[in-house]
Amino acid sequence: MEEKIPHAFAIVRPPGHHAQEDQANGFCIFRNVVQAAKVALKNLAKKVLIVDFDVHHGQGTQRAFYNDPRVTYFSIHRYENGRYWPHLEESNYDHIGEGSGKGHNINVPINETHVNNSDYNYIFWNILFPIAQELSPDFIIFSAGFDACIGDPLGEFDVSPLLFPHWIFHLAPICGGKMLLVLEGGYHHKLLAIGVEKCLRVLLGELPQKIEFTTEPKESTILTCLNVIHALKDCWKSLGMNMKISMTHEIKIIHEKPSQEESNNTENIDQEKLEISANLEKIVPFVLKKS
Ligand SMILES: [Zn+2]
Repeated sequence: MEEKIPHAFAIVRPPGHHAQEDQANGFCIFRNVVQAAKVALKNLAKKVLIVDFDVHHGQGTQRAFYNDPRVTYFSIHRYENGRYWPHLEESNYDHIGEGSGKGHNINVPINETHVNNSDYNYIFWNILFPIAQELSPDFIIFSAGFDACIGDPLGEFDVSPLLFPHWIFHLAPICGGKMLLVLEGGYHHKLLAIGVEKCLRVLLGELPQKIEFTTEPKESTILTCLNVIHALKDCWKSLGMNMKISMTHEIKIIHEKPSQEESNNTENIDQEKLEISANLEKIVPFVLKKS
């Protein structure tokens, strides 16, 4: 905040967004992003935006600032109506913060696999970007996980690692370039490295690489956006301006009860899937050109 360093990328291990104040959870021990936000608030930041694009919901970060309007938490994550880890109702879009923090917790749950750049783009321009503009934060922290990228064995999404640099590029002017990226998950190591490199290049002043949007967003993504907008429309006047929304749209909150086995696994991400990640280089269906 003293403007000595405009932005940075913290390559930290283990990741941190699942850690609780007094308990490790989901590979995470320390609440790296929570601590960074607290330090920023102590050092002149008045409004902090956390953008969590790891494929899992960062329930540890959400809980830390759930009633604190100084920190706005945005998370886009695989949810599948509660069937995806960490199987928590609080990961759904109707959990918007409480007390003076109401409206400052924004969950965008994705309810099917293999969403791609088009879905993420739709969510960025209809939800994240308008809220960020209206909030006008003086510091943005990214919980930068790359497990939503195509080929990741846990995420099972089809997002390009080239997409997130576009988010950074478009959000930078909103906070005067004061941004911190903190590494979260990512279980295909090659993809993780590509994602980190491409984000770093944008932080260093390069333009993001061109990406293609070849499909329409999925219907479930559009429905999620409608639900998020209706849950938050009284808190953010800019929401819904760019899309035709039916004001009679009714929110249906769906959370399927996890199986006993899934419930038993809320502390740890599925280890078995990780073991196959080493062989995935051969099946990642795209080739990145060297820039
Ligand atoms: Zn993750």
